[in-house]
Amino acid sequence: MTVIGLTGNIGSGKTTVGRLLHEEKGCLCLNADEIGRLVAEPAGEAYRKLQEAFGAAYFLADGRLDRPKMAELVFHDTDKLALLNSIIHPAVLLHLKRAISEIAAHDPEQIVVVEAALLIEANYLDILDQLWLVWADDAVRLKRVMARDGVSREQAQARMDNQMPQAEKAKYARYILHNNSGIEDLKRELEDVWQDFAGKA
Ligand code: ATP
Repeated sequence: MTVIGLTGNIGSGKTTVGRLLHEEKGCLCLNADEIGRLVAEPAGEAYRKLQEAFGAAYFLADGRLDRPKMAELVFHDTDKLALLNSIIHPAVLLHLKRAISEIAAHDPEQIVVVEAALLIEANYLDILDQLWLVWADDAVRLKRVMARDGVSREQAQARMDNQMPQAEKAKYARYILHNNSGIEDLKRELEDVWQDFAGKA
């Protein structure tokens, strides 16, 4: 089994590349954002710690996390954001480790892709065999985020500003997928990377 980490900053095209890897190469994709939501559910690995750390005020009557209220809190309070991350990230890591072990037990040849913007920052590198970075220039990402999320230039820029620079992430990457133009160019870029990757497997 090979576990590929797929990372990139906001709007770079991680989800798009993950979809292509699934549809065209048969990879099994695990999305860390989705797992982050799962671990905060009442049956999830982070739930009890979230309750202890934030108290009942941050939970709805049905027991689920009040996500808009939590988002509002951590947006304005970096200490609370760090606290939230210190609970969510290890829980996601645990969930990922279990999922990868289960997949390996059923299909040792399966190639698994773990997609997340924060693979490096949240210390997920240990569970990966290699890291791939999707790179798109800042101006391209800005336009994509504005179009996809319907937000202003300033709002899109604010989300981009908080991230580790792409050039820093590139130091950890086995492959860099450039995604500055259209989908057909991206597919060609991915095919080149895949040929090299498959040739070395
Ligand atoms: P985020 O970190 O915000 O989740 P992401 O890195 O997963 O972003 P995507 O959601 O894959 O990025 O892409 C951002 C937007 O840009 C999407 O609307 C996607 O359809 C579009 N996009 C990505 N790559 C291309 C491309 N090569 N050509 C045209 N549109 C693209």
